[in-house]
Amino acid sequence: MRETFLAYIRECGVWNCVSGIRILANEIIGVMKWSVLVDNRTNDPVWATEHGLSILLETERHRILLDTGASDLLVRNAEKMRIDLSTIDYVFISHGHSDHAGGLKHFMTINDHAKVIVSPHAMSGAFFSKRLSLHSITAEWPMIPRERLSVVNRSGEIAEGVYVIANIPHTRPMPKGNKNLFVLNHEGESTLDDFRHELALYTDGFLFTGCAHSGLENILAACPYPVQTVVGGFHLLDEYESEDELTALARRLRAQYPNTQFFTSHCTGDHVYEVMKKQMGEYLQAFCCGYQQSISTSPHPRQRSRHEDDSDTRQLTDKSEFTNERSISISRCRKHRTGDNPSRVSRQARGAGRL
Ligand SMILES: [Zn+2]
Ligand SMILES: [Zn+2]
Repeated sequence: MRETFLAYIRECGVWNCVSGIRILANEIIGVMKWSVLVDNRTNDPVWATEHGLSILLETERHRILLDTGASDLLVRNAEKMRIDLSTIDYVFISHGHSDHAGGLKHFMTINDHAKVIVSPHAMSGAFFSKRLSLHSITAEWPMIPRERLSVVNRSGEIAEGVYVIANIPHTRPMPKGNKNLFVLNHEGESTLDDFRHELALYTDGFLFTGCAHSGLENILAACPYPVQTVVGGFHLLDEYESEDELTALARRLRAQYPNTQFFTSHCTGDHVYEVMKKQMGEYLQAFCCGYQQSISTSPHPRQRSRHEDDSDTRQLTDKSEFTNERSISISRCRKHRTGDNPSRVSRQARGAGRL
């Protein structure tokens, strides 16, 4: 597939449908594709939905499952999408909540080798929410063989070209919806969740934020690489941040990350999306269940030199300037191409869920 794609680009180049940037074949280092297996929303009744998130990321080197949703839904939707979960080699769990880790036990009945990447705090915590009513959001963890478990408590490279960001500093505003979320400590006392169990994943310009409980700006600030594409929930629920606060956030994101494309759904409220989209225009898009996109990336100097000299590659380094370009070659989710809000067209929308 890559050869065909590159041949096409060599012949005529591809225009980025978002910003009109031309990508030439000799600038491209890879093609990656992400597919939404589980989300709260869909625009096609063929996909079942739930309050959860699971995305398959396919790169030149790896097939990585980003979160697992809340149930066996990822298995059922993957079958419909003709995605073979048995060939996935990494499962990344962004945090300990059940809508992201609840599907892991179902995934593991199908896949017998994928490494599970998770924070130790995600597996040890008992989480609950006081939103609407008190309820547990602790994931039920399956038995994970030791050789398949990769417990990550600091930032670093976990597979070739794949980086996990941990211990995200909370220097910028956090989502106000977090105030409903608690952890039960060993003494049985509940404390406000500080999200030490949250991880983000970066590879080749792609940043997955899970629910972004730590706040989008904090996660982006903690990522030492140029980010082309951000994918994940924003944990900005409709009833918390004011329109002024959302507008200010959207403006800051555009100002600070002018070349970054943001994709969201899951725990981002419909009204939040509309308010932010007014400021961000085409740089903010919605995804939904069944959405797939292929992205081609070009190298930036820092990544290239890191691979070449290969010294001290296990730890993240300083932020370098954005130099990547991107072309988006596939976009199947019709409404997203027109920038619509999923809630307007989805008969199965589940909003931003109960969390
Ligand atoms: Zn969460
Ligand atoms: Zn979530």
